[in-house]
Amino acid sequence: MSVPFLDLKTQYKIIQAEITSALQNVLDSTSFAGGPFVEKFEKEFASFCQTKFAIGMGSGTDALWAALMVSGIGNGDEVITTPNTFIATSEAITFCGAKPVFVDIDEQTFNMNPDLLKGVISPKTKAIVPVHLFGQPADMDPIIKIAQEHNLFVIEDACQAHGAKYKGRPAGSIGHAGCFSFYPGKNLGAYGEAGAVVTNNAELAEKIKRFRDHGQTKKYYHSMIGWNARMDGFQGAVLSVKLKYLTAWNEARRKNAKLYNELLAGVNKVQTPIEADFAKHVYHIYAIRTKNREALLSVLAEKNISCGIHYPIPLHLQEAYRFLGCGPGSFPMAEKCAAEFLSLPMFPELTNEQITHVVNAIIAFGRL
Ligand SMILES: *Cc1c(COP(=O)(O)O)cnc(C)c1O
Repeated sequence: MSVPFLDLKTQYKIIQAEITSALQNVLDSTSFAGGPFVEKFEKEFASFCQTKFAIGMGSGTDALWAALMVSGIGNGDEVITTPNTFIATSEAITFCGAKPVFVDIDEQTFNMNPDLLKGVISPKTKAIVPVHLFGQPADMDPIIKIAQEHNLFVIEDACQAHGAKYKGRPAGSIGHAGCFSFYPGKNLGAYGEAGAVVTNNAELAEKIKRFRDHGQTKKYYHSMIGWNARMDGFQGAVLSVKLKYLTAWNEARRKNAKLYNELLAGVNKVQTPIEADFAKHVYHIYAIRTKNREALLSVLAEKNISCGIHYPIPLHLQEAYRFLGCGPGSFPMAEKCAAEFLSLPMFPELTNEQITHVVNAIIAFGRL
């Protein structure tokens, strides 16, 4: 038996007829850039996130960058985030001209540790970007409280957390804005590149809409310098079809995570993920922790089980961010987790047999 890390084809086969007809509708109407299919999806996604507005974007990176730009983040500003995330989070900060300031993570959730936040706030701090890593929301209440005390923007990186909940509230709906990626492998994945910003703030929403369309108020009248960060029509149509299934797909991921947790419970030295009391986790990634990762990875690979590492090098230790001057030891928890994380196969259509096969391979390996 082989177990892929991700299986987009099985899911596509299930919805193939609907997708084909949705794409045909876009072709027939030639609404390729923005247009009615994107607008329809924006309404549906805002409703899904329980926000007033959703703005379709070209990618999750665009969404983060636009949300920060229109919040007025710029040269000389500092924006706080965590070092164990995908580099897009900090690239968006850097491309505003601001400096990413990292704060270490909580060992249970792998998300921003709110107790450490106060220690990194400076007069230059303008915003906090909590990342809902792996599909579990960060502990937002203390983050929002500190942000309010210091008059900071909170932009949620919800790129891995479509449908996740924090104390019953949808991820992305809690800060000033929430940013989503619809990269194909995400819980809600387009068939190409796409992203979105959600917000309850009408002014932010209007500015983001303008920003994604070259700062246009009407065609060829530009009130600000923006960018081309629009969602394309095909992606809007595909996402409308797939959004209807997202809740069921997330439940399937949760069921798969539960089975992994149960089967791995007695297994020595494997740490399974913890769902915080405040969270509804949607398991974009199911990451265990092990001290003998490299050996385990190669044994799993021999048995045709594909795994991942999210992420092997925390951002402050990446070559691209060497200029920040944060050496090894700067963020001990993020570094420890980065050395131990191993992402097991996780997608809604994963079968119980496949999960059992993965766990049996881990148990047989033994040398954990
Ligand atoms: C995927 C991802 C992004 C970037 O999204 P793209 O659509 O690939 O640009 C940003 N942040 C996190 C945490 C992500 O997982």
